[in-house]
Amino acid sequence: MSGAVTDPAAPPRRRAPTHWLAQVVPGSVPGVDRLPDRAEVVVVGGGVAGVSAAYWLARMGAGVLLLESRRLGWGATGRNAGIMLAGQSPLEDPALLREVLAEEGIEAEYEEPGHLALARTPAIRERMDQEVAARPATAPPLRVLDPAECEELLGLRIAPDFLGGRWLPGGAVVHPACFLYGIARAAVRRGALVATQTPVLSAGPAPRGDGVRVTTARGTVRARHLVLACSARSPLLRRRMGRAVTPVRGQVLATRPMRRVFRVGLAVDWGTLYWRQAADGAVVLGGYRNLDPAGETGTRETLHPRIQEALERFLPQAFPGLGPVVVARRWAGIMDETADGRPVVGRWPDDSGVWVSAGFGGHGLPPALGVARALAAALVRDGAPEGMDRLDPARFKEFLR
Ligand SMILES: Cc1cc2nc3c(=O)[nH]c(=O)nc-3n(C[C@H](O)[C@H](O)[C@H](O)COP(=O)(O)OP(=O)(O)OC[C@H]3O[C@@H](n4cnc5c(N)ncnc54)[C@H](O)[C@@H]3O)c2cc1C
Repeated sequence: MSGAVTDPAAPPRRRAPTHWLAQVVPGSVPGVDRLPDRAEVVVVGGGVAGVSAAYWLARMGAGVLLLESRRLGWGATGRNAGIMLAGQSPLEDPALLREVLAEEGIEAEYEEPGHLALARTPAIRERMDQEVAARPATAPPLRVLDPAECEELLGLRIAPDFLGGRWLPGGAVVHPACFLYGIARAAVRRGALVATQTPVLSAGPAPRGDGVRVTTARGTVRARHLVLACSARSPLLRRRMGRAVTPVRGQVLATRPMRRVFRVGLAVDWGTLYWRQAADGAVVLGGYRNLDPAGETGTRETLHPRIQEALERFLPQAFPGLGPVVVARRWAGIMDETADGRPVVGRWPDDSGVWVSAGFGGHGLPPALGVARALAAALVRDGAPEGMDRLDPARFKEFLR
C-alpha cells in the first residue's frame, strides 16, 4: 500500500480487533458464572443499543439479563469512529448523555469540539448552502465555511479540490468502547446481570403462554420480555426482519499516535470519509464504502484491500504538509441499514413479548441512550414507546416474519 507507511513496529495483532477495544478490559464488567432459569427481561446484544437498554431497564427496577455472543462491543459499537453528530430529535439530545456520564462517573473522552464536513464537489457544496439556508432558527447552529476559513479553523493547509465545508460547532466525539463499558458497569451496579460469550441460538414463545423461551449455548432462560438488540449481523434479527434490514460493511484504520493535528471531527461530503484524532493521538479514519458498495454488503468483518489502500492514501493527499502517516491497525465492522434509513425500535407487532432495537446504520451513538430510555419506559409500563412512532417496527409489516 502506498501514500503512507504501514508501521513495521506495530504490535502483533492482539486479540482485540480495534484501537478502541484494545484499550478496555473485558473483565472490568462483572459477568455471571451461571445463567438464571428466569429473568423478567432478556436483552440480546452487548453493543450500545443492548447495553443502554439494560442500563435503563435496571435503573427502572426491571430484572434484566444481557446476553452477548462474543465480548461487549465486539460488534459495530467497538468498531466505529466515535463521532457523534446529534440530529434535531429530542431522542439525540446530548444533554442526556452528559447527564448520564456525570451521574455514573464515566470517563469516555467525551468532548464537543465541533465537526467539519469538507465538500469535494460543487453539488455537495450547493447542498450544504441549501441546508444552512433552510435550517430553522431553533436548530443547533450550522455554517458553511469557504476553503480559507476551513484552513484557518483547522490550522492546516487543505488540498485545492476541497470547495469549503459544513461546520457544526456542536459536533462531539467519544471513546466508543470506554463509553460502552462505562454504561455496562453502571447497569451491573444497578442490578443488571451480564453474560458474555453466550450466543443466543433461538428464541420463541414458551409453552403454555409463559413468556419467551431463550435458548443459548449455555442453557435456556425463560423471560417475560425479550429485547433483540443484536443488529443485522445476527441471523436472529435477519430471520425476523427479512428485507427491512441489510448488513453493510465499513472499513476503518487507525494510525500510530501523531502530534495533535485534528482538533475537531471531520468528514468528506456526507460521510464518504470520516475521521477524528483520539485523545492518545491516533487518527481513526473510515469510509470509501462507495468504492465497492455491492462487495461491502454482508455480515463478515473482513478487510477490503482496495478500500484500505485508498483510506491509507487519503490523509497525506488531502493535507499536504501533514508528514508521514503510519498505520497501526485496520478493521472492518458491520452496520445495519433499514429500508427507509430509520432505526426500528419498539414492540414486535404481535403479543409475543418481543421488542427490537436495531437498524441504527452509521449513526448509532447519538440516539443510543435516549432511544433505550424510551424503550425501557414503555416495556416497564407495558405500553408503546413515547415519541418513537416513526421507529415502530410495524411500519415494515410486509417484510417481517
Ligand atoms: C465502520 C463503522 C463506523 C461507524 N462510525 C460511527 C460513528 O462515527 N458514529 C456513530 O454514531 N455511529 C457509527 N457507526 C454506527 C454505530 O457503530 C452503530 O450504529 C451502533 O454501534 C449499533 O449498535 P448496536 O448495539 O445496534 O449493534 P452492535 O454494536 O453491532 O451490537 C450487537 C451485538 O449483538 C451481538 N450478537 C449478535 N448476535 C447475537 C446472538 N445470537 N446472541 C448474543 N449476542 C449476539 C453482537 O456480537 C454484537 O456485540 C459506525 C459503524 C461502523 C461499522
